[in-house]
Amino acid sequence: MRVVLVGPPGAGKGTQAQFIASHLSIPKISTGDIFRANVSGGTELGKLAKEYMDRGDLVPDEVTVAMVRDRLSEDDAQEGFLLDGFPRNVPQAEVLKKMLAEFGTGLDVVLNLVVEDDEVVRRLAGRRTCRSCGKVWHVVFDPPTVEGVCDACGGELFQRDDDREETIRRRLEVYQEQTAPLISFYADEGILQGVDATGPVEEITQRSMSALRRFAD
Ligand SMILES: [Zn+2]
Repeated sequence: MRVVLVGPPGAGKGTQAQFIASHLSIPKISTGDIFRANVSGGTELGKLAKEYMDRGDLVPDEVTVAMVRDRLSEDDAQEGFLLDGFPRNVPQAEVLKKMLAEFGTGLDVVLNLVVEDDEVVRRLAGRRTCRSCGKVWHVVFDPPTVEGVCDACGGELFQRDDDREETIRRRLEVYQEQTAPLISFYADEGILQGVDATGPVEEITQRSMSALRRFAD
C-alpha cells in the first residue's frame, strides 16, 4: 500500500506513522530521516542540502524531491510505503503523482489525522521540559510527583517557547494555510480519508487501520 500521512503538529503523527507502517509491513519514510541519511551518507544531494541548511536557508523543493525519488526507488519501497512530511504543498503533490506514474503506480490513500486546535493546545501547552536532563513531562497526562520538579533527576521543569499557547496557535494557523490546498487536492483525487485522532494512541491506530482497509484493493 502507498500511503501519505498528514496531520497538524500535536496530532501524534510520528507515533502513528510508526505503528501503521509496522502493521502494514511497509517502510515509514519521513523527510527528516531522508535528509539525515543523505547528509550523514555524504551523497551529492546531502552535500547540497547541507549548504542550504548551514546558511539557514530552506532546502529547495528540487533537492527534497530528488531525495524522495532516490528513497522511493529503493528495493524495500517497491511494495508500498508510508510517507510522512512529504508532500508539503500542492506542487510537491503534483511532482509525487508524476514520479509514481513513471514508476507505473500511484498513491492508494492519504490519511488525514484530524484534531481540533483546542485539543492540540491542551496537549502541547501542558508539556514541561527538564532543564537538567531534557526529559519531557505533561501537567495532565504525565505529571511529575512534585510539581515543577523532574522525577528522573530532580531538575527544574520549564515551558519551552515552542510549547506556549500563542506559539502553538501560530503554528496551527501556518499549518492550516499550507495544508488546506493539499487536502483539497487529494479530496479531488478521491483518495483522502480523515481519521479522528483524539483518544488513546491504540484506538487511533485501530481507526487508521480500518480506514486504510477500505482503500486496500
Ligand atoms: Zn531531569
